[in-house]
Amino acid sequence: MYADTRPVGRCPRCGTEITPERVIIRYERTDGEAMYATCPDCRDVVRPEPIVESTA
Ligand SMILES: [Zn+2]
Repeated sequence: MYADTRPVGRCPRCGTEITPERVIIRYERTDGEAMYATCPDCRDVVRPEPIVESTA
């Protein structure tokens, strides 16, 4: 069975990576998909920020 455990984003407060099982809800916005998730460190609901892959 395949489980995608790649982080969906990063907590805007503490920078902790948010894994998919932390996601509460996803929804579509005009500028793209957005979501809410619980941060394991903040123990609060946050909106994960996209992880920008830096190859520089
Ligand atoms: Zn956090």
